[in-house]
Amino acid sequence: TGTTRPLRILQHVQRSAKQGDALSVITAIDSYCSKVEWAMNVGDKKGEILDTVVLETRPRYVLELGTYCGYSTLRIARLLPPGARLITIEMNPHYAQVAKEIFQYAGLDAQLPPISDFPLPSTPPSSCLQAEQNAMQSACHQRKWRLQEALIYTTLHCLQLPLQLFARTPQYPLSPSSLPAQGKSAEKLPTGHICKVELLVGSSTVLIPQLKKKLDIEKFDLVFIDHWKVSYLPDTKLLEECGLLKAGSVLLADNVICPGAPDYLKYIRNCPRYRSQYFPAQLEYLQVEDGVEKSVFLG
Ligand code: SAM
Ligand code: MG
Repeated sequence: TGTTRPLRILQHVQRSAKQGDALSVITAIDSYCSKVEWAMNVGDKKGEILDTVVLETRPRYVLELGTYCGYSTLRIARLLPPGARLITIEMNPHYAQVAKEIFQYAGLDAQLPPISDFPLPSTPPSSCLQAEQNAMQSACHQRKWRLQEALIYTTLHCLQLPLQLFARTPQYPLSPSSLPAQGKSAEKLPTGHICKVELLVGSSTVLIPQLKKKLDIEKFDLVFIDHWKVSYLPDTKLLEECGLLKAGSVLLADNVICPGAPDYLKYIRNCPRYRSQYFPAQLEYLQVEDGVEKSVFLG
């Protein structure tokens, strides 16, 4: 009692990962979540596809929808070129707090927190909560894992406070095994660069329309979509409407099969403004079919 899965993940990281070493933190989370408790990180297998897309895209501006414990944020951050900005949005303040601690442990020196002037976000539709709880329940059912924090954010989401985290990434040793086969070689990657991670706490629907003005962002080169699945499509349309995509912007959507985002897939595969490609894989830490969809916005 008094603990949550994200806190247990954090404790495991603090016990077993090397401080200041993002890769060691990533490995520790994968090890905990594959051996002890399942959690909704993109995971090691789909994580390699994410790595490949980051390396191919070499983005300067990255948006992530759904931070959770910061696992995928770390994966992305360690591969970004110098001067890049990574904005990650999380509506659950408890998850955001854990992510912040994990970033700090991994060496993303946090300077906290210039309370931003983002208006308080609205609460998410209950259908979102239901969808994710169902998904987690079905994933957990297979291993009879605990479910308690699947429910935590129903009680916490009303406490949201906008928070920004500016972080600095030190040298990350990139182990060749962490890189996808088709990726560029680790030697060619910039290391020891400054990367700014900005963690925004609130609902994506509320925050996306404010990004341009408040964060001085023009367009995103890469968007990693991994929040509640019912929000993939409306938030993609919101990104289009807000002028945050340009020709060549890459959307990478996780879990398009499990839990699944059928309305998003139908849209993105049929809309002439995108060129879309499916990468089959497995649900994080489980032998369950899942995959990611990479879609290039054509303008
Ligand atoms: N990307 C993370 C990773 O791979 O390590 C996992 C993200 S988890 C699958 C989804 C997260 O999205 C949850 O922490 C949830 O609280 C958050 N979320 C869901 N809907 C959201 C929304 N509309 N705005 C912001 N965050 C949201
Ligand atoms: Mg996911």
